Amino acid sequence: MSKNVFVFIEQRDNKIQKVGIELLGIARQLADKLGQDVVGMLVGENVKGETGVLFKHGADKVIVVEDPMLKEYVTEPYAKAIYEVIKANDPEIVLYGATSIGRDLAPRLAARIHTGLTADCTKLEIDEETNNLLMTRPAFGGNLMATIVCEDFRPQMATVRPGVMQSVNVDKTDGEVIEQQVAFTDADMNVTIREIAKHDNKKKDITEAKILVSGGRGLGGPEGFDELQKLADVLGAEVSSSRAAVDSGWIEKDRQVGQTGKTVRPELYFAFGISGAIQHLAGMEDSDLIIAVNKVEDAPIYDVADLGVVGDLNAVVPKLTELIKKE
Ligand code: FAD
Repeated sequence: MSKNVFVFIEQRDNKIQKVGIELLGIARQLADKLGQDVVGMLVGENVKGETGVLFKHGADKVIVVEDPMLKEYVTEPYAKAIYEVIKANDPEIVLYGATSIGRDLAPRLAARIHTGLTADCTKLEIDEETNNLLMTRPAFGGNLMATIVCEDFRPQMATVRPGVMQSVNVDKTDGEVIEQQVAFTDADMNVTIREIAKHDNKKKDITEAKILVSGGRGLGGPEGFDELQKLADVLGAEVSSSRAAVDSGWIEKDRQVGQTGKTVRPELYFAFGISGAIQHLAGMEDSDLIIAVNKVEDAPIYDVADLGVVGDLNAVVPKLTELIKKE
């Protein structure tokens, strides 16, 4: 019989990624409703030492698959490792982050296991009557939320948007670690990694930032982001943006907040020259404190802002940077 809620835990350079911790949080809620366990699946080379953090954030057990072939993420060996874990354990639910890795891995596994997959979920809950997983995701350009149920196949699988689920902290630092052996052959490695080009390490992922200074089309050009960067530097913040700024080529795509960008939940979100389109709000409206600066008084961003300045950002940004510098 299928049982337990499994979470694919992403790691890079053996560092557990935040999305895995968030997924353990929602997995904990689902498993408690079902009276089942949360099981983390950790795949890599020499990753066993990282399991403590998973117990602290809600895992009951962790299944570890280690092999030199799993050092870096490569689709085939990772898909084989997770497939073997799923086949051996028959989970009720399997969750993945809707990251580039999760989006690559989960559909392959769904096809291999012959089950369904709901992509990019923003809400997961258990149906009180049937105990099925209700998987909700935006559809039709975010104009409606679709709830999808996988009635006849197991496991029920979903990718979940990073930044949406809340992590939990439990008073526990260890638990059962199961090492699963998977036999790899050279045929499992169908690519050769020649070089790994690392991102600018000084920049944090915007989903991890406590303060975001976000800019939109109102910045007027890429130089507007230079001013925002100065403000971000004095605040210890990261710079993010609306899609309009990304589409204009003013800033990199990985800085985009919103429905087709990233979902963020910082302690403080500044919106400079961003109108507040629904697709943008979908990615930031759960921020703890939102401060908007827009020259138009009835811009929709003010519907979600806690504080607002109606005015020209070209005057506000340098002034704010100056004042904070003096503090
Ligand atoms: P605008 O809407 O043009 O707003 C610019 C604002 O700047 C205006 O409110 C203006 O009053 C203000 N302004 C101008 N000059 C100044 C100044 N000097 N001082 C102060 N204020 C000033 N958008 C996203 O952001 N993220 C997404 O993930 C996303 N996904 C999408 C997915 C789909 C399927 C679709 C259809 C759209 C998506 N969009 C997304 C686009 C979205 O609909 C908006 O077009 C976009 O968010 C607008 O960006 P903006 O607010 O920067 O620009």
